[in-house]
Amino acid sequence: MADCIFCKIIEGTIPSEKVYEDDDVVAFLDINPVRKGHTLVVPRQHSKDLAGTDPAVLSRAITAVQKVAARVTAGVGAEGFMMAVLNGPAAGQEVFHLHFHVIPRSKGDGAGVTFGPHEAYGEGEMAEAARKIRGA
Ligand code: 5GP
Ligand code: ZN
Repeated sequence: MADCIFCKIIEGTIPSEKVYEDDDVVAFLDINPVRKGHTLVVPRQHSKDLAGTDPAVLSRAITAVQKVAARVTAGVGAEGFMMAVLNGPAAGQEVFHLHFHVIPRSKGDGAGVTFGPHEAYGEGEMAEAARKIRGA
């Protein structure tokens, strides 16, 4: 897609450090890593976010994420990894071509995701939220 930075990286018109590619995805190092080896796994087929992605594309992409994550973890000698997808501007998404962050992790690296601040459910609100989600 024109004006999409990740499409250009996939095509090779913008340089990147690619670490894996197959028929479905390209994986390359994030330019601003949370930890060294932080990799973005990007489906070749452009879609703006996870919610708007064809489930067949998504299914192949997550299979590639599993493969890439094993290589990233082994490659940088990490103990584990975390995977994240930010969906939409409110969640912090900045590049609107679906990508999976794969971030190598080791104990004590201080790189954890912090969820918060937390909301507390008032009386009946948890059941109400569950009812709305089930009905959506
Ligand atoms: P988002 O917030 O959309 O989930 O994350 C976008 C990610 O893309 C960021 O972590 C950012 O560092 C990375 N990024 C943005 N532009 C480039 C680029 O030109 N090259 C590479 N390798 N990574 C990029
Ligand atoms: Zn794109």
